[in-house]
Amino acid sequence: MTQITPTIDFDQEGKQVGWLRLPHSVTRSAYGTLTIPIAVIRNGAGPQILLISGNHGDEYEGQIVLTRLIQDLRPEEICGRIIILPALNLPAVQAGTRVSPLDDGNLNRVFPGDPDGGPTWKIADYVERHLLPMVDVVADFHGGGSSLEYRPHASVHYSMDTPTEQKRRSLEVVQKLGVPHVMVFERMPRPGGLPDAAIRQGVISLGGEYGGMGCVSRKGVALVQQAVARLLAFFGAKDTLPPDVPQPEMMHIFGAEAYVYAPEPGLFEPATDLGDRVRPGDLCGHVLFPDNPARPPIPVAFEGAGEVVCKRHPGRVERGDCVAHLAAPLSI
Ligand SMILES: [Zn+2]
Repeated sequence: MTQITPTIDFDQEGKQVGWLRLPHSVTRSAYGTLTIPIAVIRNGAGPQILLISGNHGDEYEGQIVLTRLIQDLRPEEICGRIIILPALNLPAVQAGTRVSPLDDGNLNRVFPGDPDGGPTWKIADYVERHLLPMVDVVADFHGGGSSLEYRPHASVHYSMDTPTEQKRRSLEVVQKLGVPHVMVFERMPRPGGLPDAAIRQGVISLGGEYGGMGCVSRKGVALVQQAVARLLAFFGAKDTLPPDVPQPEMMHIFGAEAYVYAPEPGLFEPATDLGDRVRPGDLCGHVLFPDNPARPPIPVAFEGAGEVVCKRHPGRVERGDCVAHLAAPLSI
């Protein structure tokens, strides 16, 4: 049984903006609650759509677009039901951090969650058991986080067990979002992320990384805005937009060798930019030791072939930090 109580009625027509109340008893507030914002906009029968941001608190483009959408969208403009959670892991959103400061929970790693666990686990449980079963599609907008810089992309997630028709529809919609790059994840059936929860619940799962570095990318905001509008149109929740988006480049992350890690603590000097094409053995960068300048820099090479789609943002690295990752074109 979840301890989370919504202040809105999911079946009511019109627009409601309210809270998911999550009990959080602390010294400052014995009967306190975390109030996770939620909006439900409903107008008769039609598609059932869940839009999420703030899964990670330091990823902002989705939070901006969904906050504005809640203010701007009028029920008479849509049909069906749109559920919007712009700050899903609220404590992380308020702190501007990837994980929750209350329980160190990384929401996108704890699904299926736990109704009796910490706040992050309770949120995951509520999304998986209560929200996902209500909808046809979920879109969860990410933005790289403080430690990474991404070339913006939309993503789609399905598993080998996803029915063929749903897989076809998932691939069709993600190519019509107007985002020039698309990452395709055929996931193993293992728990952890919100996409895994969506796959378990038979829900079309869309995502994407639209920025990074803990800042707000104007380009990323524009892409999320376009993706939301086209998503609503694709499922028939809103007037259809002109179908004139160019075919995106379809990519995938091909395995562990797509990732490059720092071999030593130090200062990482990258040798590539986002979008560069590399081959195995090409230089990714050097780790330098300004505190011991007689020590020679350590070269770090790519193990795979592909395009640089993600780079580490802060200059200082610890051993094991991911400094870059690749993706490769995918023909489907
Ligand atoms: Zn994220």
